[in-house]
Amino acid sequence: MKLLDVQELDSRALQLRHRRGHLPQTAVVEELQAAKKRADDAVRDARVVRDDLERVQKKADADVESVKTRRRRDQERMDSGAISSAKDLERMQHELVTLDRRISVLEDEELEVMEQLEAAQTTVTRLETEIAEIDEKLGVALESRDVETAKLDSELASLAAERVPALEGIPDDLLSVYTRLSDKLGVGAAELRARRCGGCNLQLDPAEISRIRGLAADEVVRCEECSRILVRTAESGL
Ligand SMILES: [Zn+2]
Repeated sequence: MKLLDVQELDSRALQLRHRRGHLPQTAVVEELQAAKKRADDAVRDARVVRDDLERVQKKADADVESVKTRRRRDQERMDSGAISSAKDLERMQHELVTLDRRISVLEDEELEVMEQLEAAQTTVTRLETEIAEIDEKLGVALESRDVETAKLDSELASLAAERVPALEGIPDDLLSVYTRLSDKLGVGAAELRARRCGGCNLQLDPAEISRIRGLAADEVVRCEECSRILVRTAESGL
């Protein structure tokens, strides 16, 4: 009977739509998108740390330069011979020693910041490489998913095209019952085969079999257990 042909097409379409909705490629894409999100967040944080250290390093460098400038000026004044007082000379010598010590401390601090900055830049570079790798994998995964989806869409389109002639001759009321049951149960019509319902696999009792035997061929028979439309064939055991 034609309704079973329609059911066969609808079952295949249902499977295809299920596959379309549960593609392994989609899971891969989602996993990669999540990894990309994590890496994007991490690189944003790492850039903030690096940029902060860059500012600290510039400041430290300016501090060193400023003390060095002052020291150079003092040295020039002393070298020029403009200071004649022994006491003033001694005071300036003392200041030069203090400035040298200060320069040394500031340079050590700057060096430490530069090491931190280098480590921060390494982290940023590592994350940027990671993101580029993820992007590449994501591109491949998206393409694979799209190819598979397009393949399934084309199979679904052929099934829909086959369905049109398969529907011809099926009474409207039967079709509307079938559609309602299909929406609810997935499978709306089942073959009655060897006295069993092909939908729920339950065996029909002899009284029901004998009742069905007495029905006209165009009468719609429903399974008492699962409500599906039972399609009678030569193998029904009636
Ligand atoms: Zn049934």
